[in-house]
Amino acid sequence: PASPPSNFLRSIIDHDLASGRYADKRWAGKPGPAGVQAQGSHDSARIRTRFPPEPNGYLHIGHAKSICLNFGLARDYGGACHLRFDDTNPEKEEDEYVRTIIDAVSWLGFTWEHQGESNCYFASDYFAYLYQFAEALIESGDAYVDEQNAEQMRATRGTLTEKGVNSPWRDRPAAESLTLLREMRDGKHPDGSLALRARIDMGSPNINLRDPVLYRIRHASHHRTGNDWCIYPMYAWAHPVEDALEGITHSICTLEFEDQRPFYDWILNKLADLGQLRRPLPRQYEFARLNLTYVITSKRKLLQLVREGHVQGWDDPRMPTLVGLRRRGFTPQAIRLFCERLGVSKSDSRIDYSLLEQALRDDLDPQAARTVAILDPVKLIIDNYPQDQTEPCHAPINPHRPEDGQREFSFSRELWIERDDFREDPPKKYFRLFPGNTVRLKYGYIVTCTGCVKDEQGRVVEVHAEYLPDTKSGTPGSDAVKVKGTITWVSAQHAVAAEVRLYDRLFADPHPDAGDKDFLTALNPDSRRVVNAWLEPGTRAHPGAVWQFERLGYFVADRIDSSLERPIINRAVTLRDSWA
Ligand code: ATP
Ligand code: MG
Ligand code: MG
Repeated sequence: PASPPSNFLRSIIDHDLASGRYADKRWAGKPGPAGVQAQGSHDSARIRTRFPPEPNGYLHIGHAKSICLNFGLARDYGGACHLRFDDTNPEKEEDEYVRTIIDAVSWLGFTWEHQGESNCYFASDYFAYLYQFAEALIESGDAYVDEQNAEQMRATRGTLTEKGVNSPWRDRPAAESLTLLREMRDGKHPDGSLALRARIDMGSPNINLRDPVLYRIRHASHHRTGNDWCIYPMYAWAHPVEDALEGITHSICTLEFEDQRPFYDWILNKLADLGQLRRPLPRQYEFARLNLTYVITSKRKLLQLVREGHVQGWDDPRMPTLVGLRRRGFTPQAIRLFCERLGVSKSDSRIDYSLLEQALRDDLDPQAARTVAILDPVKLIIDNYPQDQTEPCHAPINPHRPEDGQREFSFSRELWIERDDFREDPPKKYFRLFPGNTVRLKYGYIVTCTGCVKDEQGRVVEVHAEYLPDTKSGTPGSDAVKVKGTITWVSAQHAVAAEVRLYDRLFADPHPDAGDKDFLTALNPDSRRVVNAWLEPGTRAHPGAVWQFERLGYFVADRIDSSLERPIINRAVTLRDSWA
């Protein structure tokens, strides 16, 4: 396969491999604190990356970018990518999310090395190491227990222009901090009364280096460690340690964490100097997160959409979650293609939603079976075609893949056509059916429109036409008559009934959460329309089946609701971008 386009991360990795920075296989295979058992098992890995979700929600298209990047680099460089649950926040995390995240990453097509029963890594497995390291930091004078409350700490932390103020507890003896940390661990102090802080520099221009909190007290039950702990590590403290314990070489995160990098390096170097971690240490690199037009990915706002019933759940086909995209008809290949096309950069931008849709079309076009569906049906009656006659018509299953063969369906006197394919008073350049005009019924005969029948409200209920007998597609001389329009149809007596859910963008505004406007006002009132459609006979809507409905777009039989007896079909994407 062609090698993927280079980017700044690949350049860094190429350089690290060339310089032999991670050549020590003993290190690569046996990461972890000095003298402590290895966490990684993949001895031959040349690099190690990780995808570290917090199990507190569903993954979305933004996470997919990070997954494709981290798993993709590991794959391309003969490395390993760890799926690690960053579960250091007991209140918000649940096993249920662990399961759905594992499903989503597997569905995207990535695998990871075996690690324990669950096949993945958990930050909570390192609580004991973190605690051991915290005591070492106290003993070396690099951490202290502070008795200020959160509000006092905030007030003394300073600002961008103003230095912070040292805590009165900053210079207390190490022995005192050690006793207090042990009491914190043993549950002797209430939430928020004490905290362990790194002792760095309250005057640092980087606020993250102004004695950041390492541990806080939370008397809360954890989804995996239960009530074993009542102190929990802060993200900035836990994350570098998790990386080092697993022997991560390249810790790739989004740009917001750039300011955290000095602390990341500070803490790991301290612990290495103290003999607690081995070198070489992991390094953090930042890339621009994915922002898409017409899409929000804020967990809080997505939750609000679900709770208030603006969508029908986390897997609603309009949601940007991976479960939602999957139900909508997105394939893992399309999402990976989209992420490849995005590349990685170091500057934030907003990507047009149409790129995601185009990736889906590009993935499905070469492989999806074609079929005809009539979404807004009106009868077309061929008055000169015998009442009881039917005859077979043929069409390619996929014009790009002649080897897939042909599909066969019947022509008969009464057909369903799209209501929009007939006009009593056609506008200019309208080449479809209107009285006196001649069109081709795709894969069938050429017909001449003779008129229509309307109900009392003036609505067209029947269109009438006559066919030209020697014009059937695929028969000699069938193209002797020239027409400007071709329309799709299905035979009324043979067609398969289906519920079709016409999904569109959830938001009508390209920047639904820009500024301080209420993102709900940006909802697209037309994002879901349900119609009763007629499908080409032979269309079998087993859950997950995908087609190109000719002229209309790509459609998928709903994974949850569809059955062969009662087809329920989602529009994944229209054939052309109607928002351009
Ligand atoms: P929150 O921190 O609000 O819970 P989150 O989106 O950061 O939400 P995490 O579970 O921490 O959720 O994300 C896991 C990984 O996915 C992180 O490494 C993060 O950088 C990455 N990620 C999240 N959103 C995006 C995005 N829009 N683009 C690229 N990467 C993302
Ligand atoms: Mg999170
Ligand atoms: Mg996060």
